[in-house]
Amino acid sequence: MDFNLLNYLESRNIFYRIEGKNVGREDVAISCLFCDDPSYHLNIHKTIGMYHCWACGAKGGIFNLIKDKQISKSDYNFEGLSALRQLLNNEKARMLHVIKTQEPKSIYELAKKLKRNFKSVVEDIKLLERFGFIELVEEKTKNRVRHKPEIAVNEVIIKMSI
Ligand SMILES: [Zn+2]
Repeated sequence: MDFNLLNYLESRNIFYRIEGKNVGREDVAISCLFCDDPSYHLNIHKTIGMYHCWACGAKGGIFNLIKDKQISKSDYNFEGLSALRQLLNNEKARMLHVIKTQEPKSIYELAKKLKRNFKSVVEDIKLLERFGFIELVEEKTKNRVRHKPEIAVNEVIIKMSI
């Protein structure tokens, strides 16, 4: 394919993943535009240019996706920027560090380690998950299901056009 998918996504400030949960080996994953998918279920094949969503089953060619859904700055830019500003604060950096070094088994345990309010930690976790920094791994214990936060990437390169 002559079309450079990654450049295209970057030029539109669309966050994508090339590895990790839900991402096929030849694929680039973005959050699905058809089903309010929060976590990179829409896989686009890097060379063939076909897309497929694991969550809702939407599929087709990348050019139709671009045309039909108008993947464009107006959809992503503003939200992306304000979320990014929130993302890059010290609390979140500290949170990632604690997850990596102390390996809390649940969000509750993480909040305790951070000495922070549970609800606000949950909100931060959701944001970090949305941008692909962490994954929540579901673990069943005797009485309940808990979500263990795990670091999804070792380094993050953020490119954005303004
Ligand atoms: Zn979908």
